Amino acid sequence: MSVETKTRSEELFAEAQGIIPGGVNSPVRAFRAVGGAPRFIARGAGAYLYDVDDRQYVDYVLSYGPLVLGHAHPEVVAAITQQAMRGTSYGAPTELETRLAQMVIAALPSVEMVRFVNSGTEATMSVLRLARAATGRTKIIKFDGGYHGHADFLLSRAGSGVATLGLPDSPGVPAATAADTLTAPYNDPDAVRALFAENEGEIAAIIVEPVAGNMGMVPPEPGFLQALRDVCDAAGSLLVFDEVMTGWRVHPGGAQTLYGVTPDLTALGKVIGGGLPVGGYGGRRDLMGMMAPSGPVYQAGTLSGNPLAMAAGIATLEALGRPGVWDALDAQTEKLVSGMGAAAQAAGVPYHGGRVGTMFCGFFTDARVRDYATAKTSDTAMFRRFFHAMLDRGVYLAPSQFEAGFLSTAHDDAAITQTLAAAREAFAVAAQA
Ligand code: PLP
Repeated sequence: MSVETKTRSEELFAEAQGIIPGGVNSPVRAFRAVGGAPRFIARGAGAYLYDVDDRQYVDYVLSYGPLVLGHAHPEVVAAITQQAMRGTSYGAPTELETRLAQMVIAALPSVEMVRFVNSGTEATMSVLRLARAATGRTKIIKFDGGYHGHADFLLSRAGSGVATLGLPDSPGVPAATAADTLTAPYNDPDAVRALFAENEGEIAAIIVEPVAGNMGMVPPEPGFLQALRDVCDAAGSLLVFDEVMTGWRVHPGGAQTLYGVTPDLTALGKVIGGGLPVGGYGGRRDLMGMMAPSGPVYQAGTLSGNPLAMAAGIATLEALGRPGVWDALDAQTEKLVSGMGAAAQAAGVPYHGGRVGTMFCGFFTDARVRDYATAKTSDTAMFRRFFHAMLDRGVYLAPSQFEAGFLSTAHDDAAITQTLAAAREAFAVAAQA
């Protein structure tokens, strides 16, 4: 008689499922798209995660982007620890907020003023309230498969977990709210122009991930972002870049530097909090000056500009900004992505891998992926087999085809070599239906 022994992760997952919906506090973590129990994590160090069963994984999720220096980077830990000893929140301004604001403004060409909040969701929600107030218009345009957090009006045809679970939209969003959100295919400026023509004088803003990172990763085609800039200028609408994911990920100056297109407003998050809960939004001084208490547009937060998050963000941006650090990280990402491509080719697997800076993704398809429709041509069953084969070999990828991967400065040659050895076997496993 064989007795099936459960892993500690499986036990903890079963326990969590009874009291936390799906056993998780953010849907993609539940492994629904790939099957099996999520790994419960005991600790992270550098490029590695360790689960509660003491298994080690090279981590390419990195908390879905923030951990650009890897887990428990000594300088980030020291900054948080030192700040914690001085108190964790004051509900009053600190110098740390000004210092991080200066770093953000120095890095992002379009940002003249910035306000910190607690998540990317808050950032996009607040920045679009500002865009609507500034233009006196209501409608916004987003892109199919674009994810901007879970505010009601941003869940239409959303990416990330919404895409992973195959949900068209979310129940609970009032129809009237959703009606003000227009959607277009990514990389399709003609579709955007058509929406502007149909809704003349009504569109407050376009919000776009300048490199889409929530339908897998899909870069903008040449001219796409500039076309958005032009159409906004012609219509008196505002262009909002959601750089929650791309900020300090595709380039130290964000996608706006990489592609040379200047948005009016920018939403931020992830890396600027160094792994602590944070978001931010910024842009033109005349627009940001409309925020309370300078102006009438209201937005507030008990923990906004939290000193622990500010300290972690400052330490992270400082370390990332040292000479040579970004270039080394960029080169490591190239090693990984080109190695993965070669491994897929050797296994005869249809695979399109790519990267922008330190964000990467591979689709299991022969199609050229340029939007959500083509992203969905990916063979998700093949992805599932690949994902589990990698996990079994100690490599932790996001448990969904429709997420990006990330590198950190802690991913050294040993981590990459281990990953590529695993990938050569995992692609061969994936190829077998
Ligand atoms: N915008 C983008 C581009 C994101 O990728 C995310 C989260 O993944 C968000 C906004 C929402 O951020 P948060 O999860 O911190 O609310």
